[in-house]
Amino acid sequence: MSTNPTLNNSATANASSPQEKLRALRESFTRQIPEKIRIITEKWAGLLANPSDRGGLHDLAILLHTLAGSTSTFGFRNVGAAAGETERLVKGLPASDGTQQAELVEGVSASLALLLAASEHDSGPPPGERSEEAIPDRDHGDRKLPIFLVEDDIPLLESLAFQISCFGYDVRSFSDLADLKQAMSGATPAAIITDMIFPEGENAGAETIAGLRRESTFHVPVVFISRRSDLNARLQAVKAGGDAYFVKPVPIGSLIDKLDTLTSPHNADPYRILIVDDDPELAAYHALTLERYGMTTEIVKDPLQVMKPLVEFNPDLILMDMYMPACNGNELAKVIRQMETFVSIPIVFLSSEKDIDKQLSAMRMGGDDFLTKPIIAEHLIASVTTRAERMRIIRTFMERDSLTGLLNHTRTKEQLELAVLRATRNNSNLSFVMIDIDHFKTVNDTYGHPTGDRVIVILSRLLQQRLRKTDIIGRYGGEEFAVVLPDTDVATSYRVMDEIRQSFAQLRHEYIDGEFTVTFSCGIAAFPAYADGTALNNMADKALYEAKRKGRNRVVTATEDYIHCSWRHNEYE
Ligand code: GH3
Ligand code: MG
Ligand code: MG
Repeated sequence: MSTNPTLNNSATANASSPQEKLRALRESFTRQIPEKIRIITEKWAGLLANPSDRGGLHDLAILLHTLAGSTSTFGFRNVGAAAGETERLVKGLPASDGTQQAELVEGVSASLALLLAASEHDSGPPPGERSEEAIPDRDHGDRKLPIFLVEDDIPLLESLAFQISCFGYDVRSFSDLADLKQAMSGATPAAIITDMIFPEGENAGAETIAGLRRESTFHVPVVFISRRSDLNARLQAVKAGGDAYFVKPVPIGSLIDKLDTLTSPHNADPYRILIVDDDPELAAYHALTLERYGMTTEIVKDPLQVMKPLVEFNPDLILMDMYMPACNGNELAKVIRQMETFVSIPIVFLSSEKDIDKQLSAMRMGGDDFLTKPIIAEHLIASVTTRAERMRIIRTFMERDSLTGLLNHTRTKEQLELAVLRATRNNSNLSFVMIDIDHFKTVNDTYGHPTGDRVIVILSRLLQQRLRKTDIIGRYGGEEFAVVLPDTDVATSYRVMDEIRQSFAQLRHEYIDGEFTVTFSCGIAAFPAYADGTALNNMADKALYEAKRKGRNRVVTATEDYIHCSWRHNEYE
């Protein structure tokens, strides 16, 4: 299951919606401003007493820079401007001498006094102009609603209900339209699938839906299934507000695809944004702003700790502060880009840096964009969304198989290696599964290659539906698939894969003259019994071979015993 992004932020963990959290964050930040200014003033007093403290001067500049960035982001424009001006003066100090230095020292003191005064009068943006009010919280769809299926042909109703439920949908079946109407008055389904012809008439399905549509609260997607392929039937369906129309026998793969698009919330797979910023309030602020738009975020406060979340969180984009102690944003970007896996990950710099030369230099180091603090919430969201979106598309081309949309062989192996690293570090379980469709050559030879392709697509859809978001599914070869199941021991993965095997074996695939069924065989090897990617791969492959040898349509887990057996089998047969 996907992790709850809101848990990343302990300071605001109790508030419920991102909007409320943003408000709480703003209030807590506002309370802290005087203390931040007190620390800065104290630091400056210390420097006046000890002017040769170069390190202290550098720290002061960073404190001012951070304050300028965060106050302006939260809408304290005057405080932000005063902090920025003080920072500029402080930065001039090391290179100055004589009267120029004396002037600068005086300037800093005066500017700090202005900063203090500004903080006392600047109460931030008035209600109505606060960024947490700018965009409404995104409406999160509910995937758990049932599908209502209406069909008066009982065997077909049962068969369809079963097949759709194999793909993870909760199906409620009705054999007549009156029952549907009754159910609709008490519940809202995710979608309705209905036959067209009922005893009431040739267009009864469409008429009933049209009737429901007239009730203003009805906004459920509707799919018509019918034996009729004539234009009039299709026209009735469209007029009734049908979203799709399938002629029987219903191609189950296409029907599921349609249901997925009609019912899935838009943020089914939210963009993952990694935020690297040493300022906790600012990081939390940007995180919440993005979360309000349905993205998932993770915050890294120490840039030197970026590697772990890069691998584990696998972000679509990195939002990076420019100036941080220990490491510069552009240096960090360069390091990240030097690793092959991350050459194409978008990096967006977020900084109070207004110097265009420095911005350009950051872009040369591998940044994709440079946003200047304070950044308006809509701009942040727009910039991040377009780049994350592009990243997803690029990734799709680089990583996905074009027929099924699953990860290709190379990427699957890469993901297996990463998963093994994680499991090793966290001392957790991991299962690696290999699947091969049985007698697939016969499927192609008997029903044709395009039909074979459809079977491959259906199996890929079934795996996607039945496994968790966190599982990695790949098309390993022609009719071979591989699955990485994190945090799953061998007994659990056996149970899960065997259930999928049984479902798949019962799915009916159509061809021109009727229907047929197909099975698959499956081999599983688990970590830590097999401790690296190569061992897992080899042992799952051997287990798969064993499943084939034992007669196919079964799941076999790798154990030393049978491996021994199968070697003997290889030797003597
Ligand atoms: P077994 O049960 O031992 O796995 O038998 P099999 O026939 O499935 O095994 P074999 O490896 O001999 O045949 C695999 C077939 O899968 C041969 C190949 O033409 C077919 N195939 C591979 N990729 C695709 C594809 O993308 N589409 C289709 N339709 N067929 C494919
Ligand atoms: Mg094969
Ligand atoms: Mg095969």
